[in-house]
Amino acid sequence: MTPLFIGAEIYRNSTYGGWHPLRIPRVSTAMDLSRALGWLPRGQYRVSPRAKPAALHIWHDPAYVAALVQAEADGTVSDAVRARHNLGTPSNPVFGEVFRRPATAAGGSMLAGAILGAGPGVVYHPAGGTHHGLPDRANGFCYLNDPVLAMLSLRQAGLRRIAYVDIDAHHCDGVAVAFRGDPDVLMISVHEEKRWPFTGGLEETEGGSALNLPVPRGLNDAEMAFIRDALIVPAVAAFAPEAIVLQCGADAVEEDPLSRLALSNNAHWAVVSALGALTDRYLVLGGGGYNPWTVGRLWAGVWATLNALEIPERLPPEAEAVQRGLSWAGAKMTRMPEPALFTTLRDAPRPGPVRDMLRARVAVLQARSAVLVG
Ligand SMILES: [Zn+2]
Repeated sequence: MTPLFIGAEIYRNSTYGGWHPLRIPRVSTAMDLSRALGWLPRGQYRVSPRAKPAALHIWHDPAYVAALVQAEADGTVSDAVRARHNLGTPSNPVFGEVFRRPATAAGGSMLAGAILGAGPGVVYHPAGGTHHGLPDRANGFCYLNDPVLAMLSLRQAGLRRIAYVDIDAHHCDGVAVAFRGDPDVLMISVHEEKRWPFTGGLEETEGGSALNLPVPRGLNDAEMAFIRDALIVPAVAAFAPEAIVLQCGADAVEEDPLSRLALSNNAHWAVVSALGALTDRYLVLGGGGYNPWTVGRLWAGVWATLNALEIPERLPPEAEAVQRGLSWAGAKMTRMPEPALFTTLRDAPRPGPVRDMLRARVAVLQARSAVLVG
């Protein structure tokens, strides 16, 4: 199966505004790096369609969708709309493409759902992964919830059992709202404890559909490998899904400014390949990721992993130029990049001890998983 990459140019120059974490380019960097490395031939690329408002009503409240369209047209919202739909706030600002951009990500994920609903395949959609979006409200930089829309598209195509795995640094609260109590959905989320949105506690089962693993500060590659092999892979394999959706947010790496986790991008790529071995219908989405250099590298490497492409030790000049061309206005100097972020794609591994408290939490979920899927 030749993987497909769904992308669009709308992400290249779109920004949430001067100070916002999403003022940086991300998807365009992953595309530019992939092309510079010769990894993205035309035949594997699909332009993301923009979802029409009515198509979003499959999950989103029509009044909210209309408010989003109107916010883009007006460039502002009323106090009533701000309060009702959480739009025009510091986290969820009104910006120039505030409807078109999330609607394009939604359209890409719905296209991915339709493609995988029609037959086996591998689809990569790094603009997707907006896992905080709620039916009638923007939430956590997410205006629409494209993972939910992708999964509903799979359902519309006739598939029932879906495993959703989320390794973003933040809990997937919006996806949990959508599939709470659904016996044919398994949601596994690994996220930093004591961090916004403060949902997804170890004991929160979402009506029996979720395995939530809050992880401590400083999570290292060895701990993520343990989580992958002791929890994620066996739980998904036992669930025997018809399709797997992986939200591969890039904000759990050491250099990310929005989490205190300490993974290298190798950890993410290893999850990508382990889950790919479990299914013939595989959708990989993006998500968070707020350091422009690390997010582009991680997401280009996901594409390499899906295609079993060799990642070179040193980037060729064209790819290095992509990295050197990025900037990060307003970032603290302590977060400025090491030279390796310009010249390589793969991080050095970040191993460490597997802490006992993490082993204990995984054991709780292993026991619950046995009940869930047994
Ligand atoms: Zn995140």
